Amino acid sequence: MADNVSSLPFFYGNITREEAEGYLRQGGMSNGSYLLRQSRNYLGGFALSVSHVHKCYHYTIEQEAGNTYAIIGGKSHRGPVDVIDYHSQETDGLVCLLKKPCNRPKNMQPKAGPFEDLKEKLIREYVRQTWNLSETELEQAIISQRPQLEKLIATTAHEKMPWFHGKISREDSEPLLQNGPRINGRFLIRQRDASSYALCLLHEGQAMHYRIDKDSSAKLSIPEGRKFDTLWQLVEHYSYKPDGLLCVLTQPCSRGDGDFEAMPMDTEVYESPYADPDELRNSVVLREHLILEDGELGSGNFGTVLKGTYKMKKAQKQVAVKILKNSDNDGAMRDEMLREANLMQQLDNPYIVRMIGICESENLMLVMELADLGPLNKFLQKNRYLSVKNITELVHQVSMGMKYLEENNFVHRDLAARNVLLVTQHYAKISDFGLSKALTEEENYYKSKGHGKWPVKWYAPECMNYLKFSSKSDVWSFGVLMWEAFSLGQKPYKGMKGNEVMQMIDSGRRMEPPANCPDEMYDLMKKCWIFK
Ligand code: AMP
Repeated sequence: MADNVSSLPFFYGNITREEAEGYLRQGGMSNGSYLLRQSRNYLGGFALSVSHVHKCYHYTIEQEAGNTYAIIGGKSHRGPVDVIDYHSQETDGLVCLLKKPCNRPKNMQPKAGPFEDLKEKLIREYVRQTWNLSETELEQAIISQRPQLEKLIATTAHEKMPWFHGKISREDSEPLLQNGPRINGRFLIRQRDASSYALCLLHEGQAMHYRIDKDSSAKLSIPEGRKFDTLWQLVEHYSYKPDGLLCVLTQPCSRGDGDFEAMPMDTEVYESPYADPDELRNSVVLREHLILEDGELGSGNFGTVLKGTYKMKKAQKQVAVKILKNSDNDGAMRDEMLREANLMQQLDNPYIVRMIGICESENLMLVMELADLGPLNKFLQKNRYLSVKNITELVHQVSMGMKYLEENNFVHRDLAARNVLLVTQHYAKISDFGLSKALTEEENYYKSKGHGKWPVKWYAPECMNYLKFSSKSDVWSFGVLMWEAFSLGQKPYKGMKGNEVMQMIDSGRRMEPPANCPDEMYDLMKKCWIFK
């Protein structure tokens, strides 16, 4: 029987063919060395991977109707272990005899498939809804009917998947794919009729449709493609390799997409605008490709920031455009803005506002990704219902953006809630690189030539005392930013002057936790405010 397979030392669970080859290679690739893994396309099936003369060979072991197992086209056996025993005596079509099991590395458990957790939940849900049973009867029913239930659940599980859209037409599927982030590999599956489906895939802005047919033994495949027992196995396979498709499946186009707040991955500005080399080759934006809208997004030292649309070759992109004040078109401000653009151009991370380019026209303009919901502090002041979980999610994203900066040897020097902009309620990006510096190879800090108009309340003591700025002083600022976020956009050290704050820090005192701030989060803030 197949039930006790997971205790076999040479059973690896749901690993891919390539991973199997890796383990055989690690094990020395001796002739007839083998391992067993779960089939990724046949329900209840297995795959046998064997090495012979420095090559790996893979055989599918199918579970047959009478609960017997066979390498496709071969003799039937009671279980996969019997198949292996048989082929250690008889090649019978195999490349060689099975000689030596290639066992799992120490401490490695067989890998569970993505469906395993969901499966138990769905089985229970199904039995509960279909039969009116007490709890003990329910458990017994599940035990006695397990194989049938597993099969039923597996072959209908796609109905619960967000990428399955049921019976919608080809025409209706295309806008669904197009109206989200236009990422290569965004996909959905629709039902065509009783015996066929279609896989719809976005590639280079175009929707492609692949038929999925069901053959006489209910196996599913795209024309000429590999066969699968279930749609979710098909999706899993093509998410991992294109295998004939134009690209791998990357992002499900969900049935409920319109109903939910967009998460980072679902937004246009998660994907790098530099990803397509045909679109943004250099950092010059032509004025005729830029449409500016009325109404300010905000204003800063340089001038105003307007919303706009940037017409690229293949797509249009909503952008924010920072416009230098008329009076400063020749002055020092212009140099500063170009310096900021030059620095931003070197950064490419989902949690940092990316620069699209510079436009020289009636004024100097800096074109950036749009973060429509504006600065975090103001957003929190207006939307006081935000949950602790939501705030934690946002500050975590800031920490990921800052990690990227540190890894690339940049110091921000002005990290504060006012400089974190929101794309959605669940997606934050770091902005305002006006004070930022790229560090040199020799020094891991930046030494300022003097005091300036500085955000003192966000600065670590060494910034004020020694004019030294590093990723460590950015960490200090991050602590203050966390405090601002959890206090829903309040001003830090309220009512205090800069020198009073410095004295307070020097004497070892720190801000109190914001109301309702989780202890772990306050502990983290205090860690950011440790000397040195
Ligand atoms: P700054 O000059 O960088 O401080 O920007 C001034 C204000 O313009 C910010 O506080 C935002 O309200 C707005 N802003 C700046 N950049 C963007 C952007 N990329 N997306 C949306 N709004 C922005």
